[in-house]
Amino acid sequence: MIVDRQGRRFRNLRISLTAACNYACTYCVPDGKRLVAAQDELSAEAMVRGVAYLIEAAGIERLRITGGEPLVSPKLDVFLREVGRLGLAEISLTTNGQLLSRKLPLLLESGIRRLNVSLDTLDTNAFRVIARGGDLASVLAGLEEARAAGLKIKLNMVPLRGQNLNQVLPLLDYCLERGFELRFIELMRMGHLARDGNSFLQQFVGMPELLSMIGERYSFAQADAPLDATALRYEIPQQGFFGVIANESVPFCRTCSRLRLSSTGWLHGCLSSSNRHYVGDLLDKPRHQALPALQRLLVKALGDKQDVAFSGGVTVMKIIGG
Ligand code: SAM
Repeated sequence: MIVDRQGRRFRNLRISLTAACNYACTYCVPDGKRLVAAQDELSAEAMVRGVAYLIEAAGIERLRITGGEPLVSPKLDVFLREVGRLGLAEISLTTNGQLLSRKLPLLLESGIRRLNVSLDTLDTNAFRVIARGGDLASVLAGLEEARAAGLKIKLNMVPLRGQNLNQVLPLLDYCLERGFELRFIELMRMGHLARDGNSFLQQFVGMPELLSMIGERYSFAQADAPLDATALRYEIPQQGFFGVIANESVPFCRTCSRLRLSSTGWLHGCLSSSNRHYVGDLLDKPRHQALPALQRLLVKALGDKQDVAFSGGVTVMKIIGG
């Protein structure tokens, strides 16, 4: 097991199945281009081998499939079928929900029981402006079907000043009514926002402001969360829970247990570091050759973690897998 001075180790793997996405959210994709085909993406088989090797070399216990948009990837079917056999404690998926209705049978057959669906607004016009792709009605229909099928759903919202702050309470009400857990993700200085500090500061909304908005309608108290959770969780008695991923306001680097594998075969130990480690070539090698080399790279990747606070990174979220 590889552990650093702060006692951190990799427990959670996020895999970006593809960098392609059917949205081009303003805060994620700088050029507004959707469905950009990623060059040299790994095959589903190589990715599954990667997960298997990382379970052994790093002690990965939980997997989150992300992207890009995982539901647009033709690899999803094979990947889900094969990765389900590796004995992970949990496999979950993050999606924008646009193709959820169509892919729900596949997700259910593959044993997926938890979904994170990203939705920044319930307003059709604001949705068009922020997501720059897809349509809101399809996402909402997919969410209802996933709910009816018994999936455990978290909704991710990135609050953006001047764009969707009037949606904080409507989205919270929407989630509480349906038993979904809403998670507010503080805007991160990633990609173009790491380069353009002004744009970041103009849009950023921090946890104290959010909690005060919510406090105007609801009473809430902090709830328990696992030690290495990214979100601070709150309970609204008798109504449900919500969370805040407060990268800026309450950094969680000291307990971070996440490792990321990009669709093109790069390991990232930290969102906030520009270091990355190529493992694509190792995934074609037999286990006895791959594992020692992988372990050396994992030591480096763990060393990339920030000591205290998230400071941003130039990698675009849809490449690294948010
Ligand atoms: N396409 C999928 C989706 O929309 O959930 C998965 C990939 S997306 C990159 C994963 C998450 O990253 C989304 O919830 C998105 O809102 C979030 N995200 C992207 N860029 C971000 C940024 N700069 N700050 C905060 N969250 C960001």
